[in-house]
Amino acid sequence: MAPSTLPDLLTGRQGPALGAPGRADLDYPSLAAVIDRLGRQLAGLGLGPGDAVALVLPNGPEAAAAFLAVASHATAAPLNPAYTEEEFAFYLEDLGAKRLILAAGAETPARAAATRLGVPISAVESGAAAGDIVLTGAAEAPARRNGPGDDALVLHTSGTTSRPKIVPLTAANICASAGHIAQSLALGPADRCLNMMPLFHIHGLIAAVLSSLSAGGAVTCTHGFDALKFFGWLGEIRPSWYSAVPTMHQAILTRAKRNAETLAQAKLRLIRSSSAALPVPVLEALEATFGCPVIEAYGMTEAAHQMAANPLPPAPRKPGTVGVAAGPEVAIMDAGGALLPQGAVGEIVIRGPNVTPGYRNNPKANAENFTEGWFRTGDQGEIDPQGYITIRGRLKEIINRGGEKISPREVDDVLITHPDVAQVVTFAMPHRMLGEDVAAAVVLEEGAAADARALRAFAAERLAAFKVPARIEILTEIPKGATGKLQRIGLAEKLGIAKPEHGA
Ligand code: AMP
Repeated sequence: MAPSTLPDLLTGRQGPALGAPGRADLDYPSLAAVIDRLGRQLAGLGLGPGDAVALVLPNGPEAAAAFLAVASHATAAPLNPAYTEEEFAFYLEDLGAKRLILAAGAETPARAAATRLGVPISAVESGAAAGDIVLTGAAEAPARRNGPGDDALVLHTSGTTSRPKIVPLTAANICASAGHIAQSLALGPADRCLNMMPLFHIHGLIAAVLSSLSAGGAVTCTHGFDALKFFGWLGEIRPSWYSAVPTMHQAILTRAKRNAETLAQAKLRLIRSSSAALPVPVLEALEATFGCPVIEAYGMTEAAHQMAANPLPPAPRKPGTVGVAAGPEVAIMDAGGALLPQGAVGEIVIRGPNVTPGYRNNPKANAENFTEGWFRTGDQGEIDPQGYITIRGRLKEIINRGGEKISPREVDDVLITHPDVAQVVTFAMPHRMLGEDVAAAVVLEEGAAADARALRAFAAERLAAFKVPARIEILTEIPKGATGKLQRIGLAEKLGIAKPEHGA
């Protein structure tokens, strides 16, 4: 049987596991020792299965190792380091975090948020090899490991309501998902992934890090996406693949010509794309540039990432589709909960070992999102006779900013607190590179004079930068849908900003 806890996933492996540009690799036995030591230190701090430990660490091998160690012995809750103090306070409280782990000496608003809430903080120090970490000054006690059913990872999803939902993923969920991805990509010990995806998002954690390790391969963890460094990394690290969101692929392509020499020597076996729709011309240009297949996959936090993927050759890839079910079962359901025949358009639903058992403390969301054991993704799609899935739209209002998901209600709730704002509706506007970006329509209080720039500055003080509306339209009235209700979906079109902005 496939392993269903992290320590089991890593046992008996040899060779390089974690790497970082310019640093020595950490091999599998050393990684296992790091994980065990951290497990004992967590136990020494009184932490074990079921305890949420928040991680706010810069992207890199330390974040990967901390995730692996905490997810082996407690519940890892990696948070976006770009959050504001208010956002950190919300997440730490919502998770009931028992401890916050930061890089030694790091200056981050997470520190003030944790102090305010009385959440104790531990610092992570790292040795010379990539991911060789230890908690500063923590005593050890016998470690307590997670079983398959314990929550190894919790992430928040951007709900359509202002309150993001907690998605718990068990050790068995994330191990299953890692195995599915490894299988789709035929990963093995000879593979090395170049990770540029953030390690507070399911894509980086599972599709890059855990999939690699589940196959005995290596993963080199960079500080994050950097189009200027990408070709240097290709030359230095010689990865066999990488996984990214479409905007990253696009940025890489624009620099490819200048790096023809590196490209000629690069031997990527495949490129993976997920988390947002990959435009077909980008897929084609990537394949022509790198001379390897581009595998578009369909992922989601609640599925511990992968739901579907295009197959490797010789099976056909179908550009414009997200491929075939690749892990869970995938079906199409109507609004009433009936499964639809092949070819019909409806909501994409999934069930399988990688799917979350349900949102935490949220019976309403669980009742809405699970039907007869199927999880409703909120994406609309259809399945062709060969089983390839095409995404047709989204039933939920979440904004997909090049893979970053933003809840429009969360932005509304901030803007409405500005004294000059009487009404606000945040919505997705098309963006040439990102697919979608955040926009807001605002009606001011009578006689108020705030302009878009002032409102954006107000939002920027309260929201992480990626959530701040790129465009704010000040209107005398917000257009309503046919039923007289405010509708976010289609608002960009109604306001005449539905055309992608060239050069944006
Ligand atoms: P997340 O939970 O951040 O991984 O976001 C999941 C959502 O991203 C899905 O429900 C889809 O709406 C979207 N998504 C993921 N992969 C793709 C893809 N290949 N094409 C289009 N949308 C995607």
